[in-house]
Amino acid sequence: MKSQDIRSKFLNFFEQKKHSIVPSAPMVLKDDPTLMFVNSGMAPFKEYFLGNAQPKNNRLADSQKCLRVSGKHNDLEEVGYDTYHHTLFEMLGNWSFGDYFKKEAIAWAWELLVDVYGIDKDILYVTVFEGSNDADNLEMDMEAFDIWKQYISEDRILKGNKKDNFWEMGDQGPCGPCSEIHVDIRSAEEKAKVDGKSLVNMDHPQVVEIWNLVFMQYNRKANGSLESLPNKHIDTGMGFERLCMVLQGVQSNYDTDVFTPIIREIETITDKNYGKNDKVDVAIRVISDHVRAVAFSIADGQLPSNTGAGYVIRRILRRAVRYGFTFLDKKEPFIYRLVDVLVNRMGKAFPELKSQKQLIENVIKEEEASFLRTLDQGLILLDRIVENSKSKEIPGSKVFELKDTYGFPEDLTELILREKGFTYNDDEFKKKLQEQQERGKQASELKSDDWTVLIEDEEQEFIGYDTLEASVKLTRYRKVTSKKDGEMYQLVFNITPFYAEGGGQVGDKGYLEDAHGDVIYIIDTKKENNVIIHFAKNLPKHINEVFKASVDGKQRRRTECNHTATHLLHQALREVLGEHVEQKGSAVHSKYLRFDFSHFSKLTVEELRDVENFVNRRIEGKLPLQEQRNIPMQQAIDEGAMALFGEKYGDTVRAVRFGQSIELCGGTHVKNTADIWHFKIVSEGAVAAGIRRIEAITNDAVKDFYFENNRAYFEMRDLLNNAKEPVKALQNLQDENVALKKQIESLLKDKAKNIKAELKSELAEINGIQFLAKKLDLDASGIKDVCFELGSQYKNLFLLFGAEINGKAILSCYISKELVAEKGLNAGTVVRDLGKHIQGGGGGQPFFATAGGKNPQGIDEALEAAKDYLK
Ligand code: ATP
Ligand code: MG
Repeated sequence: MKSQDIRSKFLNFFEQKKHSIVPSAPMVLKDDPTLMFVNSGMAPFKEYFLGNAQPKNNRLADSQKCLRVSGKHNDLEEVGYDTYHHTLFEMLGNWSFGDYFKKEAIAWAWELLVDVYGIDKDILYVTVFEGSNDADNLEMDMEAFDIWKQYISEDRILKGNKKDNFWEMGDQGPCGPCSEIHVDIRSAEEKAKVDGKSLVNMDHPQVVEIWNLVFMQYNRKANGSLESLPNKHIDTGMGFERLCMVLQGVQSNYDTDVFTPIIREIETITDKNYGKNDKVDVAIRVISDHVRAVAFSIADGQLPSNTGAGYVIRRILRRAVRYGFTFLDKKEPFIYRLVDVLVNRMGKAFPELKSQKQLIENVIKEEEASFLRTLDQGLILLDRIVENSKSKEIPGSKVFELKDTYGFPEDLTELILREKGFTYNDDEFKKKLQEQQERGKQASELKSDDWTVLIEDEEQEFIGYDTLEASVKLTRYRKVTSKKDGEMYQLVFNITPFYAEGGGQVGDKGYLEDAHGDVIYIIDTKKENNVIIHFAKNLPKHINEVFKASVDGKQRRRTECNHTATHLLHQALREVLGEHVEQKGSAVHSKYLRFDFSHFSKLTVEELRDVENFVNRRIEGKLPLQEQRNIPMQQAIDEGAMALFGEKYGDTVRAVRFGQSIELCGGTHVKNTADIWHFKIVSEGAVAAGIRRIEAITNDAVKDFYFENNRAYFEMRDLLNNAKEPVKALQNLQDENVALKKQIESLLKDKAKNIKAELKSELAEINGIQFLAKKLDLDASGIKDVCFELGSQYKNLFLLFGAEINGKAILSCYISKELVAEKGLNAGTVVRDLGKHIQGGGGGQPFFATAGGKNPQGIDEALEAAKDYLK
């Protein structure tokens, strides 16, 4: 059975069981502080499990893109070494939100695997939760056990501990026991030798878990205790690639048709064969896996970068480059060449890959090239470290530095060192690494208390499209603490005019006021699992009263100008540059807007002007806001709205239209484009391969911009004596400046010559030494010239010169080489000693040295003291 058919069979099966089929959510999460990427099928449905939102149907099924490369679930280091863990994989899932429970979930899982897919039931094992003796003190899941008994013989039902059979979303939230379904796909001989039962959950590559059925019946509170959920849910997750392995009769996920086309392509490009050498095989698996993860992330709008989710993606790609570099001898970019095959394979199920193929290729190629350059630099550095090392063991700190600053991984360092007969101190390296991780953890660690609920079951309503003020009641609150922001309160109201950060637009600020005149400032507003959360430094005193909530109107209006301008800019770019332009990120602040988009070359001055004009014409056109708040997604698309990749949309959407610009958008906007007043681009540049960034301003910021520029202009003209043509006047001034500098240089040279003659006449002979100590009106290089010229004429010279330059003191000492040798005199020692008088220090060579200091008053004392050296 082809993988495509396996996927659609799953979805069709659950559709027949009255589930709505939903598309995979984007992999990168935007409003969940506890999670960077979707790491299991349930993550996009968290808001339903938490009761913050209602699904359109309480039975859903899907195939969800998951990424397990960070946080609680991190399989990255396994990937490539085993045959059944991936970074990116698809999780097939069926969901019940307070609808059916264990009986149906188990019956349908069985029906699908055995009757529909035709898996031999004698290769299956299932597990049930055995209970726990810890603080939770949970009983065995007899309910599940009794249901399973109807389908599978009792000796194939195994009891599992909390680690394997109790699923928790995070430290807090819905959780419950689970039943896993495992397969044993070993040969008959193998099975005869070792009982499959003993291999379940033992990391055997052919006895693996394929499906996990989670029965969510508890909620884990912040204090660690469990409470029963009033509505019980089903959350199942089946590894698609593992299922393909079973149904295609192969022994490794990499031998399924999900991977073989990519592996064949790697073989062709690298001229290596899969299945001949362990190290090569690991490298090929790593690359075939990682290219998927990276391509899907880019398609979802997450580009490799230096921070957060972008950094995780960058690290995955670099891991792939490293394995190619080390084990497949690929020293030039090649991973991007695999995108073609991948898109051919998956483009149908995941159209976001297909439409962004070119961008994905470009970004990967550029990343590869830049990391290969880093590797080259690292190699040179490593050579130098080895050359300079006195011991055969390199300090761990050096290896850490290579990793931290140059992205040069320790395993590669080790490999290269070994070839040169060196090792490194691994304990020291690990210690450094751990210290760094601790620092990162402390900075980002967020501790949150349980919610204190004041009003139960109150649905929250956002009224900020229509008003900036409202009477609100606090429904719940909690305290959160982080190293970065200290203590903070999160407040939730029954209704709110505050816009929560989202769709690129910043969250509203403002204040709350109660009847007693007490005021609390709201410093930010964010969404978490679909709840609007207001951040305040303090908790209001009278928490049970009604507050007047007011949004900072000035900031909001400026932000709205920028948001509407962003839509117009998007439209303008597609109009001026072409339809290939796609939004790749935006930030809408009160002071400016930023817009990232796909396009392959720098914008010309003409293009920028055309874009600016296009937007400004629409501002002058006084286009009214036309808003449709709750229309079906399809209707909006039919009317011409564009959905963005990597955005999660509901079934109904809000469409925002200004003239011909239609966007799906939850943000707030001006009532009429005329409110924007004017639009001005302030910068254009590249952010990544094939991605450009425009920063622009509107309204008040434009006024400030012109005012400031104008002011600078007049100040400048003033300084140029109100020249009629200031640019020309400035150019003249610059030319004159260059000419003057030249003159000064030659004058100084003449002066030095004259001084030399004078100085010669002032030399005094003491104890057979030609001596002079004197203050000069020259700069350091002038003094040096004088010293060396006099020096060329005498063999017994001792000079000490002082000078005051820009309020600082310098002392320079010159001693003929012959004197240095005969009398053991040393100019370095002299200036170091005498430097005390000018409160400074310095050094140099035995025959010439200079000291600098901050006390010019001490120069005379120093000169006076110089004679002492001649005694
Ligand atoms: P394992 O113990 O094999 O790592 P898990 O207990 O972490 O699995 P779950 O969190 O229960 O797995 O995820 C549900 C299903 O998703 C698993 O039964 C498996 O089929 C699949 N799965 C989990 N992790 C991966 C991965 N890294 N790559 C591919 N499939 C996976
Ligand atoms: Mg796992």
